[in-house]
Amino acid sequence: MLCQHTNQCPNAEAVDREAARTVATFREQGWSLLCNGVIVFEDTGEILPDGTMIEPHRGPARHALAA
Ligand SMILES: [Zn+2]
Repeated sequence: MLCQHTNQCPNAEAVDREAARTVATFREQGWSLLCNGVIVFEDTGEILPDGTMIEPHRGPARHALAA
């Protein structure tokens, strides 16, 4: 567990794992590292610390659907 925040962030197994804080952003590569060890990509895909791949899960924006 990398998280050293006073109020511990959700761990990598938690459903709200994305609520953990970003500790490093590699904008040019399109991903960020969260303090719970999860890597989050710009398209909302994720890689967990154990190597599990999470498919992107951000749906189309509502205003895009309305148009
Ligand atoms: Zn944290």
